[in-house]
Amino acid sequence: MKYISTRGGGEPVASAVAIKAGLAPDGGLFVPGFLPEIGLAEAAAAAARDYQELAGGILQSFLSDFSAAELEVVVEKAYGDNFDTPEIAPVHLLGEKMGFLELWHGPTCAFKDLALQALPHLLKAAVAKTGDRSEIIILVATSGDTGKAALEGFRDLPGTRVIVFFPDQGVSRIQERQMTTQEGANTFVVAVEGDFDKAQAGVKGLFADGELRTAMHRQGMAFSSANSINWGRLVPQIVYYFWAWFKGRQEGLLPKDEEFNIVVPTGNFGNILAAYYAKQMGLPVHRLICASNKNKVLTDFINTGFYDRRRQLYRTISPSMDILVSSNLERLLFELVDRDPAAVKGFMSQLQEKGCYQLGAQACARLQEEFWGGYAGEEETIATIGDVYQKYGYLLDPHTAVGVKVCRDYRRETGDHRPVIIAATASPFKFTRSVVQAVMGEENYRDKDDFALLEVLSGFTGEEIPAALRGIQEKPVRHRLKTSPEGMKEATRQVLGLS
Ligand SMILES: *Cc1c(COP(=O)(O)O)cnc(C)c1O
Repeated sequence: MKYISTRGGGEPVASAVAIKAGLAPDGGLFVPGFLPEIGLAEAAAAAARDYQELAGGILQSFLSDFSAAELEVVVEKAYGDNFDTPEIAPVHLLGEKMGFLELWHGPTCAFKDLALQALPHLLKAAVAKTGDRSEIIILVATSGDTGKAALEGFRDLPGTRVIVFFPDQGVSRIQERQMTTQEGANTFVVAVEGDFDKAQAGVKGLFADGELRTAMHRQGMAFSSANSINWGRLVPQIVYYFWAWFKGRQEGLLPKDEEFNIVVPTGNFGNILAAYYAKQMGLPVHRLICASNKNKVLTDFINTGFYDRRRQLYRTISPSMDILVSSNLERLLFELVDRDPAAVKGFMSQLQEKGCYQLGAQACARLQEEFWGGYAGEEETIATIGDVYQKYGYLLDPHTAVGVKVCRDYRRETGDHRPVIIAATASPFKFTRSVVQAVMGEENYRDKDDFALLEVLSGFTGEEIPAALRGIQEKPVRHRLKTSPEGMKEATRQVLGLS
């Protein structure tokens, strides 16, 4: 299986090369030459053994230049007792024909762990395979959860350093503390004044900076990415949609051979893109429901085919979705226009120059056939957390709550009541303030900080605080670097000892 750029530049490359590079040399994103089909019987047989077995098979179908033995090492290391359940991603049935695919049982309590516990091992194997001796410098822009997951995944991995840029004031207090207390000699965390889009654009700028690359090359260093622009992030995410189908059938949510819908709280479009790929590979999915918060650029896009980033970015209680430029949409566009790189290039340059682009009629019709878009405002999100807790005693984090609200809207508007799998993307304990407000009424706890609210929430609900978050307020802060978006290059040079 070879990988090509969505913008058509360069020769097709092996997956190890694509994973090592992160971004294609022409600025496009790597996509597989074709999408392999996965037989459902075969997938079910693998899943019946365990998550690792299913993951190994799906990884192998995309990463054909890796040996089965290499991939076995990757999945064994990635999905072990670093997760707090051997199921890795359990499906929790609620009622209303909803199953929550709980993707937050890993070391940082968000779905990013499912990919970022695997990516470092994939990258290490990829580097060895290509005979490269460079030290790999992982650049990450984070809207909150990727940063910690990448730091945890790469910490003390020989031959790598990881630099995370997060929007100062743009993440939850707990997310920030998770990052600034990170241990490991090869980890660096930098706050950027500005929002996620600024941090993400800054990182893309560093990738494209020839001068910086040359200076690094001289020191035996090369960049890679742990953001979902890296193909190595997406493949592991495809696995859990097959897993959800298997579990959903096992638990009676999904009747045999019937189609179901998938709801994904969406920001950078990586997670829902993995679900789209799973569908193309043979998973019996009817509709992909894209749930946004108040930053509803994707809802508007799906409804009209017009992508328009020229709007204010709001800071919301679901900060990991506070994004106006969703990188992975480029991969979907590529499919919607029948893999025509010239068309993708056109959209991307319009986005860059004017801040918007319009899909043609055919691509738009395809988009709407596969996807449905909706959004939840702040109060609706809080109300949904409260409602679900009262009805079912089940705690939602704000991102997942956005998904539930949009799922209910979808059913009301379309009359389609097929069972759904909802991606539960974070532990409610990562976002204590909103969750406490929703289930207890925040008036009483306004004077308490987010860390004290961990105890409050645990005491009230009887649920344990995840190990990764326990005692986080007492951990020493190890990272205090801060920069303007313009200063990101200098900060990188300093971290790398280039200036
Ligand atoms: C990253 C994240 C999202 C958005 O996922 P994308 O792949 O960027 O669309 C949603 N919820 C949580 C909790 C996240 O961490």
